[in-house]
Amino acid sequence: MRQKKIVIGNWKMNPLSLKDAEKLFIGLTRRISRIKKTEIVVCPPYLYLERLKKFSRKIVLGAQDAFWEDAGAFTGEVSGEMLYNLGVRYVILGHSERRELGETDGFVNKKIKSALKAGLVPILCVGEKERDANHEYFSVIKSQVERCLKGVSKNLISKIVIAYEPVWAISSTANRHDATSADSREMAIFIRKTLSDASSPEIAAETRIIYGGSVNMKSAKDFLENGGIDGLLPGRASLDAEEFTEIVKICEALKN
Ligand code: PEP
Repeated sequence: MRQKKIVIGNWKMNPLSLKDAEKLFIGLTRRISRIKKTEIVVCPPYLYLERLKKFSRKIVLGAQDAFWEDAGAFTGEVSGEMLYNLGVRYVILGHSERRELGETDGFVNKKIKSALKAGLVPILCVGEKERDANHEYFSVIKSQVERCLKGVSKNLISKIVIAYEPVWAISSTANRHDATSADSREMAIFIRKTLSDASSPEIAAETRIIYGGSVNMKSAKDFLENGGIDGLLPGRASLDAEEFTEIVKICEALKN
């Protein structure tokens, strides 16, 4: 069965105060009240989650990471079970900014399994750092997908959202440049084929593949209509309630 289209806002390490987080979230809540078909997820820093959950039932909360152990002597970590118990339902895993700090596919693999066990939907981020003339970037993506999903039971794969985020297109990357909807489409097809080989064509068809990398209200329509994807993961644009809402509305207006 086809799942709903999804727009996920990654606030990263923003904003600086709870007051500003509330303002942004409440502004968004007011603007998206008429949205029906599109699933909206917002991933703020951990410490705002508890407070923000009171303001909206329509916006589902996500975290930006979760550790693989449930509880114990792991200073500074937060577990999937803790997040689930708080009302969080999604978790971004393997984001390129975390990979830059040392997160490996092996870590992400353990985190995906424990997030699923805790009842969270993992948003698995994959993306190459650069595009080379020999098209090696396809093998980079294939190996990220395969390693991160190693040993995940086939019937759970379609619960995972796969976010294709080419690092060279992310807003915080120095000398970044724009990806096109054709880049997204090509990679979405490739990821679906990789998933199909790892599970089945049916499971691959059901799994949501989304795009992230400097998406804004000007580029969202083209990515959604021509990028071969089931949704978007805006970072910077999710820090502006009006812009994020426009992206959600563009998704809502899609024919299928
Ligand atoms: C992200 O980091 O997940 C992201 C897509 O960020 P931005 O939209 O700011 O490039």
